[in-house]
Amino acid sequence: MSHSARILIVEDEEAIREGLTDVLVFHKYETDSASTGPEGLQKALTGKFDLILLDIMLPGMDGYEICNRIRAEDRHQPIIMLTAKTSDEEIVQGLKLGADDYVAKPFSIQQLVLRIEAVLRRSRTGLEKARTITLDGIEIDTENLKGQGQDGETDFTRREIELLCYLAQHPDRPVPREELLLKVWGYARNLDIETRTVDIHIAKLRRKIEKDPKEPRNLITVRGAGYRLMAGG
Ligand code: CA
Repeated sequence: MSHSARILIVEDEEAIREGLTDVLVFHKYETDSASTGPEGLQKALTGKFDLILLDIMLPGMDGYEICNRIRAEDRHQPIIMLTAKTSDEEIVQGLKLGADDYVAKPFSIQQLVLRIEAVLRRSRTGLEKARTITLDGIEIDTENLKGQGQDGETDFTRREIELLCYLAQHPDRPVPREELLLKVWGYARNLDIETRTVDIHIAKLRRKIEKDPKEPRNLITVRGAGYRLMAGG
């Protein structure tokens, strides 16, 4: 690593802002912070930051607007939204505007640091570059769309691999179907027929990666929360 990553914290609540700063400095990140929307946007647009932690409710300009304006300037700037606890609307809206991930408040420090590391890693290495996903009973070569298990070789579609890659990038939490639709399919709207698309793909994937698709061990359903990939090694 050529330098320690620089993180901008845009958060109006002083206690959270200072708490985040302390935690990130402790984890060897360089930080800067802003307590209003306009100040956050101005600092974000300097392009100096490897990652922006962005609150949604801010004085002067909300996090959605900031996210939008940053994206208009820089499509690749990594952004993690800090959302109110499990508000699906906030999460979907944030991801729709191009945030890389979100952390729901109140968050655990461990969760936050894991997400930060994941987003930074992804932005450094790019998406799914020649990576292997190792699951129980099968190893998947994402570049060549092939899996190797005890029973031989399995072919995957591009979409199935993208779905697996996205889940593999978020191993620490279940991923809601709406988020999969946005990030893997690029659908902004949440129609019933589209969430069924996700379920259908999950079912197809399970037939390929599970020993017993009725009792999945790799790609599990977390009731009411989404799907989670249990990465092996
Ligand atoms: Ca706030």
